[in-house]
Amino acid sequence: MATPTRIAWQTATVERVSVETPTVKSFAFRLPDWQPFRAGQHFDVRLTAPDGYQAQRSYSAASAPESEGLLELTIEKMPDGEVSPYFHDVVVPGDAVELRGPIGGPFTWSATAGGPLLLVGGGSGVVPLMSMLRHRRAAGSDTPVALVYSARTWADVIYRDVLEGIAAVDLAFRLVLTLTRGHPDGWAGHTRRVDAGMIEGAIAVLGRPRYVFCCGSDGFVENAANLVVAAGVGPEAVRTERFGPTGQ
Ligand SMILES: Cc1cc2nc3c(=O)[nH]c(=O)nc-3n(C[C@H](O)[C@H](O)[C@H](O)COP(=O)(O)OP(=O)(O)OC[C@H]3O[C@@H](n4cnc5c(N)ncnc54)[C@H](O)[C@@H]3O)c2cc1C
Repeated sequence: MATPTRIAWQTATVERVSVETPTVKSFAFRLPDWQPFRAGQHFDVRLTAPDGYQAQRSYSAASAPESEGLLELTIEKMPDGEVSPYFHDVVVPGDAVELRGPIGGPFTWSATAGGPLLLVGGGSGVVPLMSMLRHRRAAGSDTPVALVYSARTWADVIYRDVLEGIAAVDLAFRLVLTLTRGHPDGWAGHTRRVDAGMIEGAIAVLGRPRYVFCCGSDGFVENAANLVVAAGVGPEAVRTERFGPTGQ
């Protein structure tokens, strides 16, 4: 599905700002014109300077489609960035922000589509995957799902408590975490970049995935998708979303 071109901008109100990690915050927006979305879709935000200069960026929905009226975006601060530092350093509850969406087609999952579902995320690439997990729970789905998630350090794991909470009670959910640039004492999980062993291990537990969603930086997604196909999953099952040039 092509990106809609006539989708209208609306002015959303920031209702809540939450600190996820030292470099990541979530922003909950109240939308006056709520359009149903699918987990995995994204929204555009647009900032306008007093001189009229505008900057626009895309951010994936982090919340479940079921949280009607309230949309959560999770934004990682790029130190030399134009838009993300503005959100981190300036935006507070009560502020108005221009936003449009939902946007995006193939990178979406609905509980009615079933699984098994393999999710592979690097850094903030976990955001749309979180929307899928939240949707799965809100829909009462017991679709088997594995999340292979690569973060730099323990402190950089976005949604850590939520993910551990789901893993503790949901036997159909498998969390495979790898910390590539430092880990706490006693850490028993992976410490290397996502590789064939990690993907094959997840598939061994999950069964052959019907849908695979890989999200993160360009390099991360390229590598993850290649590993999934090399593990024997048909390329038609693999969907990718690329956030940017570098990163995790
Ligand atoms: C469909 C889609 C969904 C996205 N969803 C999210 C999301 O949920 N959360 C989120 O935090 N970001 C997301 N992004 C990335 C986001 O759109 C911006 O690119 C990012 O916030 C940087 O914008 P900026 O204005 O702060 O930095 P810019 O001014 O655009 O760039 C500043 C510097 O950072 C580099 N850079 C830009 N993007 C990245 C990146 N992703 N990784 C590493 N370096 C980068 C640039 O090369 C440049 O050197 C998404 C991107 C796409 C295309």
